[in-house]
Amino acid sequence: MELSTVPDALAGAFRDAFAEEPSGVWSAPGRVNLIGEHTDYNHGLCLPVAIPRRTYVAARRRDDRLVRILSRQVPGERTIPLDGLLQGSRGGWAAYAVGVLWALEQAGHRVGGLDVAVDGRVPLGSGLSSSAALECAVAVAAVDLFALEGFDGDEGRRALAQVCVRAENDVAGAPTGGMDQSASLLARRDTALLLDFDGDVAPRHVPFDLAAHGLSLLVMNTRAVHSLDDGQYGNRREECAAAVAELGVGSLRDMALADLDGSLRRLSSDLLRRRVRHVLTEIDRVTRTVAALEADDFAALPSLFEASHRSMRDDFEISCAELDTAVETARTAGALAARMTGGGFGGSAIAIVPASGVDDISSAVESAFSAKGFREPELFPVSAGGPAMREPWTGGR
Ligand code: ADP
Ligand code: MG
Repeated sequence: MELSTVPDALAGAFRDAFAEEPSGVWSAPGRVNLIGEHTDYNHGLCLPVAIPRRTYVAARRRDDRLVRILSRQVPGERTIPLDGLLQGSRGGWAAYAVGVLWALEQAGHRVGGLDVAVDGRVPLGSGLSSSAALECAVAVAAVDLFALEGFDGDEGRRALAQVCVRAENDVAGAPTGGMDQSASLLARRDTALLLDFDGDVAPRHVPFDLAAHGLSLLVMNTRAVHSLDDGQYGNRREECAAAVAELGVGSLRDMALADLDGSLRRLSSDLLRRRVRHVLTEIDRVTRTVAALEADDFAALPSLFEASHRSMRDDFEISCAELDTAVETARTAGALAARMTGGGFGGSAIAIVPASGVDDISSAVESAFSAKGFREPELFPVSAGGPAMREPWTGGR
């Protein structure tokens, strides 16, 4: 289906379910992270781009404090009372949406019930951040529908990202950092977003117009099972926190890369040493990647991406056979640079490829997956897309 027809079809599903017209349709993008993994919760740097795959919500205010919600990706409709939300079960997909309304109220904004229909075109659970896309689409819908103030401009969008992070952490129960929500709310077309999680630093928009350089960004969804709330992601967060405690610093960002060896010697185990080495070198690689992009120096990217992937595979131990295969095959088949992206343990990898090589490189990855007996991967080229917004949909047929 053409993406431009999604709002119409979704409004139709809304009408069928709720017997009324939605007030509007909003959408928010998924993302890939160019570089800087597991750095957000370590007060570090990351560099996501929004992708053109988006999650759409059609919504309308209710007079009570109930949220009725359905998703075209999940059977069944749910009705969830806004009050007492945290006492309910934490699991369940609707927590990502309703949690946003709860977090808005926690931040001092008055909202009410909603009828919501969701159509997520970001693959679910593939490391492309369908969770943040859902949260952010609901968030921008709520801002409009309840006329909430203070969420305009980059500054306001940063506040809204914090609300969505709370929804994901406290209601959905996934202990993720802030990268995904910031990317979904703040990204701009043909740019990457440099996010600095050390204090109140404004994001920087970094040029990333691959098409102008004859290049394309290939997303390789391995479809390997991945779930950020199965404990692995939280595990890495705890290991980083343990290292911070042993080092007696405020965060790993406070450690100087120049003193890396000295810092590592102060840690009690090889495991913590490897975790810290990943975080510190990865933050440095983000800085170098930004410098390369701002200087139009794409030749610097292959070694940065390769070192990043190796660091995640060997030091942070968040890769898997499917991700390694995608990255290695893409590189061998002519990609300029490739690495896994997102939280890891499955999910997606990315490759910067010559625009003319998208098909050949995709075929090579598909063949390699088939030869190894992996699930068929999903491969698609993307350009850096725009942020969460109200769709220009103006009503029914
Ligand atoms: P990712 O964010 O990488 O896609 P997560 O595990 O963080 O993976 O989030 C995926 C979860 O988000 C899904 O299992 C589901 O609970 C929820 N979700 C995201 N998009 C939708 C959708 N369109 N419909 C229903 N649930 C969704
Ligand atoms: Mg997610």
